[in-house]
Amino acid sequence: MFRTILLAYDGSDHAQSALKTAADLAKIHDADLHLVHTPQIDSPHIVVGAFARPLATPPTAAQIEEAGKHITDKAVTAAREMEVEIKTVHISNDNPAPFILATAEKTGADLIVLGRRGLGAFGAMALGSVSLAVTHGAKTACLTVV
Ligand code: ATP
Ligand code: MG
Repeated sequence: MFRTILLAYDGSDHAQSALKTAADLAKIHDADLHLVHTPQIDSPHIVVGAFARPLATPPTAAQIEEAGKHITDKAVTAAREMEVEIKTVHISNDNPAPFILATAEKTGADLIVLGRRGLGAFGAMALGSVSLAVTHGAKTACLTVV
């Protein structure tokens, strides 16, 4: 039923669960799996990940791209361990929700898979701001994974 699945991935444990579900669905439906990630400069994954130490100056576009690649490489490897090849990887430092929605259109996705929450510490609401905005704005089916 689903032919093209887009996974929105922020490196969080929730996104890791979304990855597992997206890869399972891609296998079951023999669908293409695409990945979208927008590195956030305040993300602890960037500080402890690609740059190894807190930055004294704002990161350059190249550094943001590198940080993003660091996170998406992990997702590509995790999918591969589930015997699923991620077909394309989309990285931008735009706002996450608009970029996820634009990437869904670009890839012709008929399903967007996200974690219900992400890296944010504030958990009072059921959905995070990105999953809320994407499910609100999507022209296709969305699955938020707990
Ligand atoms: P908030 O960011 O509003 O504080 P949160 O981090 O808990 O809350 P969201 O950011 O909405 O929640 O994250 C929910 C899901 O949206 C994530 O599991 C991931 O699938 C996707 N997502 C969030 N941020 C990004 C991002 N920067 N790039 C790609 N996908 C993202
Ligand atoms: Mg978030």
